[in-house]
Amino acid sequence: MQKLKQKILSEGRVIGNSVLKVDSFLNHQIDPKFMLEMGNELAARFAGEGITRILTVEASGIAVALTTGLSLGVPVVFAKKGRASTQNNNIYSARIYSFTRQEAVDIFVSDKFLGPRDTVLIVDDFLAHGEALRGLLELVDRAGARLAGAGIVIEKVFQGGGAALRERGVRIESLAAIKSMSEECVEFI
Ligand code: 5GP
Repeated sequence: MQKLKQKILSEGRVIGNSVLKVDSFLNHQIDPKFMLEMGNELAARFAGEGITRILTVEASGIAVALTTGLSLGVPVVFAKKGRASTQNNNIYSARIYSFTRQEAVDIFVSDKFLGPRDTVLIVDDFLAHGEALRGLLELVDRAGARLAGAGIVIEKVFQGGGAALRERGVRIESLAAIKSMSEECVEFI
């Protein structure tokens, strides 16, 4: 998506070759109109898949999940982070290693909002090492739902998560795929 690449180049800041800060439109301040454009694009790529629910994880995935759900006309569920044991028993949970927190985190979703009748599109803001996506796939599996695929705003290809999950047969669509980056330059595929 050309406009996203331009925004990354003009507004993004690379920290230490591995983290991209895009706080002006995705991770802190949100540009609602642009978020809608990105949601429409992800929805168009998965049109005809019979999607019944969007699944993301709090917090930064929620905005783009919302606009994708709006475009497809389906509910949006966000997995919560925290201690699943404090919730009631009717949940599916998975443990992931959080890229941003640098620690293991439990994510969970209620069985009220995800189940065997669902066809799920997972949506997230970033794909790096693939931990968040792997955890969300585990929730879909545990719920007995069908996976349509994953829609990602920014994939950092050099961190390998996308390749590993595609090898497992997961369809992943990224709106911008970064081949390499440094403080001086960001290169897209
Ligand atoms: P992964 O689990 O694929 O390693 O990382 C994905 C998660 O970590 C995303 O949900 C996102 O919130 C966060 N993340 C990964 N890389 C970046 C990055 O470069 N910038 C920001 N802002 N978040 C990132």
